[in-house]
Amino acid sequence: MPEHGLPPYDDNNIFARILRGEIPCQRVFENEYVLAFHDIAPRAPVHILVIPKGRYVSYADFSQNASPIEITGFTRALGNLAKVLGLEQTGYRLISNMGQDAGQEVPHFHIHLFGGKNLGPLLS
Ligand code: 5GP
Repeated sequence: MPEHGLPPYDDNNIFARILRGEIPCQRVFENEYVLAFHDIAPRAPVHILVIPKGRYVSYADFSQNASPIEITGFTRALGNLAKVLGLEQTGYRLISNMGQDAGQEVPHFHIHLFGGKNLGPLLS
């Protein structure tokens, strides 16, 4: 067990493979810190996944172990992406599933960016 209690990073997870270019994605934005691409099964008119380029399993891992520049680069890129897409006008929602109770499917930290309609209540 690693010292922070998180599972080790799996280099074969689907987002790691997307980052290596082994699996295609519909890219929306990329810089040295992040890759943003359309979710394969969108739950809203805008449903984009924003992932760091570093090897982080989840928010717990990223928030504890990423460097300040990675955290800043990721956060700024995500906010800027939402702005450039025009979502600040109507609003948007960010969600990150961490672990079993949240139903995290892919063990590479990601944030879901939702928008393009009234998103309704937070949890159903
Ligand atoms: P999680 O449940 O881990 O928070 O979300 C994982 C998300 O990744 C899901 O919304 C799912 O539709 C998306 N996803 C899974 N596999 C792929 C893929 O190969 N390509 C893309 N673009 N999205 C994927």
